Amino acid sequence: MDYSRIRKILNPESLADRVVMAAGCGSGNAPALAELAKNGVTRFELWDHDVLEPVNLVRHVLGRASLGRNKAEAMADWIMDRNEDARVTVHPCKIEDSPAFAAGVAAKDAFRLVLCGVDDMNARYRINRLCVEQATPMVAAMVFRRGMGGMVFRYLPGQGGCYNCLTEFARQHGMMIEEAESEPTGATDEQVYGLGLDAFEKNPGLSIDIGFISLIMARMALEALVPDDGRRDFPPLRSNLIAFANRPDPAQGMKKFFQAEHFFLHPQADCVVCGV
Ligand SMILES: [Zn+2]
Repeated sequence: MDYSRIRKILNPESLADRVVMAAGCGSGNAPALAELAKNGVTRFELWDHDVLEPVNLVRHVLGRASLGRNKAEAMADWIMDRNEDARVTVHPCKIEDSPAFAAGVAAKDAFRLVLCGVDDMNARYRINRLCVEQATPMVAAMVFRRGMGGMVFRYLPGQGGCYNCLTEFARQHGMMIEEAESEPTGATDEQVYGLGLDAFEKNPGLSIDIGFISLIMARMALEALVPDDGRRDFPPLRSNLIAFANRPDPAQGMKKFFQAEHFFLHPQADCVVCGV
């Protein structure tokens, strides 16, 4: 891979020992994986049990040549086609059926980061718990209903709260939770749009809408992966939660197009996963 046009921005060799573990290779994670592969990440471990179907083509990175193939296997080929230095391990199964996933999160052979793009809230909580227990960084993304926008959350051990803390945080901020497919119900304060949503695959949204969220996810992941060795020309990101509106959405308190709100989520004292 000829990195000459990005070398002044980051040092791709500094990413050689970084491993990105993708929990899911759906329409949310796939663009983030593609961007990381272009920007010097070469070690990937991919999980997905799903097969690419015609209905996926309006959102997914993969094209018609991959129809009927396992998404993780096809995405591995996409990555290796783009970056000849890439080494990709494929797990065409569900995270919960994969002892290799838990082993990977626990492995200390390299700096590991989990890219969480699963479409199941319970799976997301399980992955968060594993990451907290093993002090492994994680970036998770969720989209709001109808592609209004979304959220990207980053867990870095010892630097802020975990994904489970988000629920408590949301309650404190009067945000509302609901399932992705359902309509707003007139909403009690207990509900938070966008949190714990059945994110990418089930949630309606244009690929463009989801793409913004995936790019923020990729950028937050890259920012954590690149060592702060004085050879990158971007400052450290201080926030660990970014809410992004593709268009005005009063239900989210978002008034503008392309509005980004940054938060720093502290560990919540009553969090059952990371609480002290
Ligand atoms: Zn927590």
